Amino acid sequence: MRPPLLLACLALLLTAPAAISAGDDLARLLGAILGPSPLAENLRQLTDDIGGRVSGSAANRRAVRWAVDAFQRAGIERTATESFELPVAWTEGATRVEVLEPRPFAVRAVSIAWSPPTPAGGIEAPVLDLGLGTAADFEARSEDLAGSLLLVHRPVLETWDDLFAEYADASPVIARAVAAGAAGILWISTKEQGVLYRHINTHGEIDALPQAIVAREDGLRLARFAAAGEPVRVRLDMPNEVGGAFTAENVIAEIPGTDKADEIVALGAHLDSWELGSGALDNGANVALVIEAARAIQAAGIRPRRTLRFLLWNGEEQGLRGSRDYVRRHRDELDRFVAYLNIDGGVGSVLGFAVAGRPEIETAVREVLEPLASWGVSEHLLDTYGGSDHVDFLLEGIPVLDANQPEANYLPNYHASTDTMDKVPIRELKLNTAIMAAALLGISQREERLGERLGRAELETLIEETGFDEYLEDEGIWEDFLAGRRGRALDSGAGGR
Ligand SMILES: [Zn+2]
Repeated sequence: MRPPLLLACLALLLTAPAAISAGDDLARLLGAILGPSPLAENLRQLTDDIGGRVSGSAANRRAVRWAVDAFQRAGIERTATESFELPVAWTEGATRVEVLEPRPFAVRAVSIAWSPPTPAGGIEAPVLDLGLGTAADFEARSEDLAGSLLLVHRPVLETWDDLFAEYADASPVIARAVAAGAAGILWISTKEQGVLYRHINTHGEIDALPQAIVAREDGLRLARFAAAGEPVRVRLDMPNEVGGAFTAENVIAEIPGTDKADEIVALGAHLDSWELGSGALDNGANVALVIEAARAIQAAGIRPRRTLRFLLWNGEEQGLRGSRDYVRRHRDELDRFVAYLNIDGGVGSVLGFAVAGRPEIETAVREVLEPLASWGVSEHLLDTYGGSDHVDFLLEGIPVLDANQPEANYLPNYHASTDTMDKVPIRELKLNTAIMAAALLGISQREERLGERLGRAELETLIEETGFDEYLEDEGIWEDFLAGRRGRALDSGAGGR
């Protein structure tokens, strides 16, 4: 039955303000982000003034205080820090590689992060070219391994897959080197033109044996001497400083919700970085993005339905320590988390989101991003990858949206001396801020939740179906998950929240 015309008009008048208001909110949000803003100045302060900020360092503590201030300057009243413990403090000493034979030349090198120091006076040893360090490479040189420094080759880093392989392939090489009684490993840099970078093979524990990264050109020169049949002998001196357990802090800011304030939508990026550069692409740019998203929502006078939480993690580079601790500490309120959005891929344009194997989430995200359809934010990935702070939310069955970004200029500068603010195009960062803020707000204003929190059984199936278990195995997380020591409780039932 058709309603009388007057009633229909009245109904239209009553529903129209809500519809217009959602559009208004988005328009005001985009205006606040794309107009003049403190975004670039915030990034400059974090990367140039504070600089590289390794967990446990004075710069890291300054960065925490700065982030709290930045949220407060953005008008966010609810800000807090939460501290957690990391097992061992570590600082690089004056790393030095001296070529003794066949002839001296300067080798540029840095220590692997959390590598043990070399004994006083350094290690003087023959260098053995071990190719890629496969089981066959070790087998072929089994007579010569004990007491040697192993020179291990790796391809130039070009894709995200190369990066994951660099991490995954290291552990077996180290295990073989330890078993063979090698003195240490010299890894050939995966970056060209003398660029050095920080790499870690542990979760913030001291590594099994001394290791350095040598400049690609210098490592290949050593390899050519060896190939020419000349004995190669070096002294590796790495007087790294190792300390005791220490605390680091996550920074949390919150904009309270209104009619659905009990439910939480969170956006996070990691605040800590390595220190050879100043942590601009990884991940200062996205720290500035998170703070800017909060500022713009506040400045636009938007009243979110759900509570918005902004999370700046610490200890990410030592094995996702901060987000892992947060998820454990907030276990009692995890049912209230509607979604966790993460961004940690530099400044490549956000093309969509990786939704960790959940098609219903992909559908919901498409709806949320409909107002930005012409921006082309539609390349959602059904599978997922690890390596950032969404992992522990995922392991709790919470819907996670990890920004899908192309490599852009991220990999050549990854953890490197060259990761500085000049690598960050502010225009691109503003557009990414607009996309992330629009997604966050859209999820907050929806009538329905983005998706359910998965129960244990559903989660196990999903992790195996997406092959995410392989990543968890490589990272040493899988056993803890299976045993219920990390992630969704074993007795959490078949589904629902
Ligand atoms: Zn990162």
